Amino acid sequence: MKDILKAPFMVEMIRTATNMYAHGWDERNGGNVSVLLDEDELKEYLDLTRVHRTIPTGFEAPGLDGKYFLVTGTGKYFKNVQYEPCKNLGIVRLTENGTQAELLWGFTDGGKFTSEFPAHMMSHVARRRVDPENRVVMHCHPANLLAMTYVHTLDEREFTRTLWQMCTECIVVFPDGVNVLPWMLCGTNEIGRSTAQKMETARLVVWAQHGIYGAGRDLDETFGLIETAEKAAEIYMKIAHLPRVNTITDEALRQLEAHFGVRAREGYLQ
Ligand SMILES: [Zn+2]
Repeated sequence: MKDILKAPFMVEMIRTATNMYAHGWDERNGGNVSVLLDEDELKEYLDLTRVHRTIPTGFEAPGLDGKYFLVTGTGKYFKNVQYEPCKNLGIVRLTENGTQAELLWGFTDGGKFTSEFPAHMMSHVARRRVDPENRVVMHCHPANLLAMTYVHTLDEREFTRTLWQMCTECIVVFPDGVNVLPWMLCGTNEIGRSTAQKMETARLVVWAQHGIYGAGRDLDETFGLIETAEKAAEIYMKIAHLPRVNTITDEALRQLEAHFGVRAREGYLQ
């Protein structure tokens, strides 16, 4: 068996969690990440017949049976992931319609996956229907996106248009826009279902007064997606209280759309 701590997916996960903490997106035990792993790759590092524990998930996620996920632990601090990955991370295989998770590695202190596991797993199902290559779901608390949900309308079209106007690259990076959930109780199957539903039409879902969810094909892409939206929100929070003299016009957004070959969300440009 190869050393799992040197596996590319593990190295990337540790680097990403560390970087998210460094960006101030994951204070205390805030934030969670899940990555769908490839069975053929994983069996080079783990005996997949050796199940340490079986943990009930508390929800159903048909379509994920037999799928493997590397996921952050509940109550765990992102700042500690790099020092003790086997305690702060775990690898599970879903079974029985997603109602059970077999622990194959990690959570060595008796811990388990993030309390937002329902939102993660339901979002994986929803995103993979749109993009079969989707492998990552990421949640964190970037300060400017959060701040924006206190002072900006939560109308998804308006929220998206404001972000697109804040940085030229935004419409290129997230042409599908940003969906927004009003404040809801976190850690529940209800917010999981609502998030997954929003994931059907965009890779970014803002949780008002809480944080953001991003989905993508790999950790870099998903991190970059959130990073770009957060940068735009930062510009907005710097200028929201000032008279706007200039902006990126719809005409300019259409030029970007054409030049970079992206399709802006239907009906979002004038
Ligand atoms: Zn959160």
